[in-house]
Amino acid sequence: MAGSAPTPRLRTTVAAEDYLEKIEQLISRKGYARVVDIAAELKISQASVTAMVQKLDGEGFVKYEKYRGMVLTSTGLEVARRIAHRHQLLTDFLGVIGVGDEKIIYDDVEGMEHHISPETFRAIEALTRYLEKNPGVMTKVSAAAKSAK
Ligand code: CA
Repeated sequence: MAGSAPTPRLRTTVAAEDYLEKIEQLISRKGYARVVDIAAELKISQASVTAMVQKLDGEGFVKYEKYRGMVLTSTGLEVARRIAHRHQLLTDFLGVIGVGDEKIIYDDVEGMEHHISPETFRAIEALTRYLEKNPGVMTKVSAAAKSAK
């Protein structure tokens, strides 16, 4: 990357983001992430996982060594943490506005976490924090959502 240009927004696909998120979860949980573990958790073949991990290595998101597993680069970690933060916040948000079904919340969040703009995310984050600090308002919002069914 040349000179003093501003850092470009990281361009990542949905699949790449899900891989980085999963690698980070595995490393946090077990201390390492292996192709076999990622394949099991994402329900994808080991050959596909290997190809994707090699691609992510080529793009600078992970460092992959065939027999030693992989680590996230600082850029990879940044993407993984951004997605994990979005996942948690959007889960909280759907909960506080009265979406009661955990499966619906999970499935919606899995899509939203990749597609939401930073601007909209910040607005939802601010609203979620506000609702959490104002349980009276939260109760009314959640009741309105439930009665709209
Ligand atoms: Ca995800």
